[in-house]
Amino acid sequence: GKRTNLSIQEQRESLPVFDMKNDIVNAVNENQFVVIVGETGSGKTTQIVQYLSESGYNEIKNEHKIIGCTQPRRVAAISVASRVSEEVGSRVGDRVGYTVRFDDKTSPNTDIKYMTDGILEKEALYDAIMSRYSVIMLDEAHERTIATDVLFALLKKAAKSNPDLKVIVTSATLDAEKFSNFFNNCPILKVPGRTYPVEILYSKKPELDYLAAALDTVIQIHVSEPRGDILVFLTGQEEIDNSCEILAERVKHLGDTIDELIILPVYSSLPSEIQSRIFEPTPPNSRKVIFATNIAETSITIDGIYYVVDPGFVKINAYDSKLGMDTLIVSPISQSQANQRSGRAGRTGPGKCYRLYTESAFNNEMLPNTVPEIQRQNLSHTILMLKAMGINDLMGFDFMDPPSTDTMVKALQDLYTLSALDDEGYLTDLGKKMADFPMEPALAKTLIMSSEFGCSDEILTIVAMLSVQTVFYRPREKQKEADQKRSLFLHSQGDHLTLLNVYKSWALNGYSSKWCKENYIHDRSLKRALEVRKQLVTIMSKYRHPIVSCGVSLDKVRRALCAGFFKHSSKRDPQEGYKTLAEQTTVYMHPSSSLYGKSIEFVIYHTLLLTTKEYMHCVTTIDSKWLLELAPTFFRKTDPSKSSEKRKNQK
Ligand code: ADP
Ligand code: MG
Repeated sequence: GKRTNLSIQEQRESLPVFDMKNDIVNAVNENQFVVIVGETGSGKTTQIVQYLSESGYNEIKNEHKIIGCTQPRRVAAISVASRVSEEVGSRVGDRVGYTVRFDDKTSPNTDIKYMTDGILEKEALYDAIMSRYSVIMLDEAHERTIATDVLFALLKKAAKSNPDLKVIVTSATLDAEKFSNFFNNCPILKVPGRTYPVEILYSKKPELDYLAAALDTVIQIHVSEPRGDILVFLTGQEEIDNSCEILAERVKHLGDTIDELIILPVYSSLPSEIQSRIFEPTPPNSRKVIFATNIAETSITIDGIYYVVDPGFVKINAYDSKLGMDTLIVSPISQSQANQRSGRAGRTGPGKCYRLYTESAFNNEMLPNTVPEIQRQNLSHTILMLKAMGINDLMGFDFMDPPSTDTMVKALQDLYTLSALDDEGYLTDLGKKMADFPMEPALAKTLIMSSEFGCSDEILTIVAMLSVQTVFYRPREKQKEADQKRSLFLHSQGDHLTLLNVYKSWALNGYSSKWCKENYIHDRSLKRALEVRKQLVTIMSKYRHPIVSCGVSLDKVRRALCAGFFKHSSKRDPQEGYKTLAEQTTVYMHPSSSLYGKSIEFVIYHTLLLTTKEYMHCVTTIDSKWLLELAPTFFRKTDPSKSSEKRKNQK
């Protein structure tokens, strides 16, 4: 391509947003709110904050202020911070830094700070008017994550009491009017696009196995199409790792006359060194294929992509009203997502997008736009935070698209049964403590209770391990050996304790990578768990929750888990599988569980995984007595949320 050997300065000046520099700075000078729309790759995320910094926004009335920029995804925040650090010529964490959950790379020198939207939402707890910032850019607003949606309202309010604060909302799609309407009809700036045409090729009939179809398509492109890199959208880490492995194997048999194919994965939990390889120019006589999650849809831009393979799926966390809880589901994308994905092929030259679904499925089965997360996900964490900010009138909260009353009531009910709210709907002391933890309320409560039960050392490890995706791996050619090693860690009381076993053995072996390799365990997952654990220890100490080990009394650990996750309890059903105690729906033991195939009466699980059936994932045995004792308001027959709401309305 022609992009090679441009200096950083030349690259910056070649971006479409560069021509708008003065317009953008002027608009921000003159307005408290500005909406900016521009195609992915036009330079919004990396450039706008730099323009504002160059224009003096790091010093307001003789005080140092930060220019902040939020991202829905942690990988995007990290990757963009490292790119912009390079552009300004400083180390990450110095002039340009980032903060994501469990990882803070900022310093008093930091002028430009990238962060996840969740981090800024959390900061609002302690600094509602955002006094440390001169400008906050809510980036990727089209993603409509819950945290960004909540920040819309919080920043609109903050700007009222803090007239020096500027708020920029950026979006890659044309939903700008809506954002502008919400922010008092503020101006909309449009960055002109510079894209090439993309030819769309649909499957003739529905694909039975989209992974196989994706790999076939990649091979076909590689052997028959002209040069240019390939981007494949898959749904998650495991799928991506497997596909990389299978493809590497298949490429070996293509013969020497074919160019080299460089295979690279991209997903959130990948360490940044590996991720930065996707930005390196492709060497001559080779082609890159990148297997990415939805992250490559709009939040990171990879140059040189000429071919996109889109199976049409995405993994989302959604609230399942039938089950009464959040599940991770693989769901079809929307038409606007499909168009964003195909757009990735037209940034360097005319491209092609292979849609592995039929044209009729695109037209008739996909929703035009993605449903905002706030309308499909459990809100208990969000509501806990809002309550901790002193916002009690949730129905009157200024949401751009309010969640349904049902969703709100459900979340209030969840918090009430966790004892985070009292009968009047106000935050309890426990609830206040729970809001200090950047995680779902059930986990926060488990951590807090573990201190009381005397097993916080163990629970810290388990919670850290739950935060990483996959621990064990099974290479295709060594499945037997891997399974045999894995069996040595399995705990007879369940998977949470298996995770504890793995971590403890790793620690005993000096946190060694070699040990991980020998035991078919993902080294990087454990390293991440170690990092997360450190951060959790900091939070626990800061809020004076003692860290104590229970030694061999692991019952305490199971009880602490029960104190947070009683809602995820189920009882064996003589007919088949298990029935959840909450909603009496049928669920099944996941085959990966150490309890699979055993007749255990009562269990709790961490998540439900919906594939062919509803599977309980990460399951542990419990004593049914604990349930009544730890969650009396949940297992009582009356509906607590209704009675508390009623009482509130009477006031
Ligand atoms: P937008 O936010 O409008 O989608 P960005 O500011 O993220 O655009 O990207 C602008 C350009 O910067 C992209 O075209 C890409 O080439 C380059 N870029 C972004 N991140 C990196 C990175 N980590 N490494 C190398 N180049 C990058
Ligand atoms: Mg961007």
